[in-house]
Amino acid sequence: MNDSVMRHTDSTHPIVVTFNVGSATIKMAAYDTAKAVDSSPLAWSPLFDVNINLKTKNKVWHAMPQSLADWEPQDSLTDTAVSLFTRVKQTFPAREIVCIHRVVHGGKRYHVPVVINETVMAHLVELSPICPLHQPPALSVVNALQAIDTKLVHIAAFDTAFHYHRPEIWSSYALPKSLRDQGVRCYGFHGLSYQAIMRKLETYLPKIAKKRLIIAHLGSGCSITAVDNGESKDSTFGFSGLDGVPMGTRPGHLDSGVILYMVEQGWTLEQMNQCLYKESGLLGLSEISNDVRDLLASDDPRAKFALVYFATHAAKEIASLMVSMKGCDALIFTAGIGEQSAIIRQMIVEQLDFLGFSLDADKNIDGRIDVPILRINSDDDKQIYVILTDEQLELALSLEHAITIETDA
Ligand code: ADP
Repeated sequence: MNDSVMRHTDSTHPIVVTFNVGSATIKMAAYDTAKAVDSSPLAWSPLFDVNINLKTKNKVWHAMPQSLADWEPQDSLTDTAVSLFTRVKQTFPAREIVCIHRVVHGGKRYHVPVVINETVMAHLVELSPICPLHQPPALSVVNALQAIDTKLVHIAAFDTAFHYHRPEIWSSYALPKSLRDQGVRCYGFHGLSYQAIMRKLETYLPKIAKKRLIIAHLGSGCSITAVDNGESKDSTFGFSGLDGVPMGTRPGHLDSGVILYMVEQGWTLEQMNQCLYKESGLLGLSEISNDVRDLLASDDPRAKFALVYFATHAAKEIASLMVSMKGCDALIFTAGIGEQSAIIRQMIVEQLDFLGFSLDADKNIDGRIDVPILRINSDDDKQIYVILTDEQLELALSLEHAITIETDA
């Protein structure tokens, strides 16, 4: 790779369209950076912000202009992304538009947002097998948009970036040097979400932002990170999105001997991917659903067991992460489950009572909070907060830091 870089500069204040692709969802938003020039980023309001379930075509608008009221998702991920992007282009025919994509894995190379060119794309494609649920669909959206407009600028912002400078003691595996040299290490993910949480803390609670924090991102994918004075120290996700806390369909922490056993038993790579990414976790344990809401509503003992397992292992990971900071001053819950489920927060925190954490039941309310930050601990105990993450805004803000890397000769 040619290492010479230059900052992506923009004098025209473009419209930025953000793309956050999950295994079953795409979240898209758009921001007019011209309107945002003089205001603090947290005061930016998106032109639109929508979360689309690709299977059900259900869409949840967090911001919806009237002009998009008749817009409907298409049959495929790429068609849906192209269709909504086209509407933005039609609405702003004279404006420059920049696309910013959440790319979960930046590997060893990328720890700041980069403009995607052929070289960058080739490097990102190489990382696809490590994150099969997220990397390939995100890159397929880039390719689909490039097919309709070759001049569009696409920027990749990475979930691994927030963790890039973690101390070696917490980013290494005890593996032979040859494997470590190939890039087999603990990367950590959900970095855009952790950045969003830190931005809110720095704005509303700057003293807390400098303390020893444990941030629990509990959504379809779950990870928990120890953040000391704003820096990632240790995280439950490692090389891939499989480790740590059990998730909707992924197992979380697993003895690597299980993988050897599966190979010995004749499982193919495809079967193992299917089992570990799509059939394990809450779904595997309960055999009912991967969705916490379904499990909470069920009387089936398997649903209860899955939820208790989830909460217990999340608590175990939280306690373990404290070693990297020699303690913890505040625990923060975010993402779908962490933001909205009072009962799951309670089930986790009950198991951390011996470390001085305890909830105030009156403050620990169910559902989406309507304040930027909600403190939910009892007065004499360690601080616990609920904070809404905002990966879309973090993506949009990546514009300012994005760099261009020259294409290989
Ligand atoms: P993603 O990781 O896809 O971005 P989210 O952070 O939106 O996902 O989290 C989605 C998950 O959050 C769902 O699978 C569901 O289990 C959980 N969830 C959403 N709302 C609630 C709720 N009110 N109570 C409990 N769990 C919820």
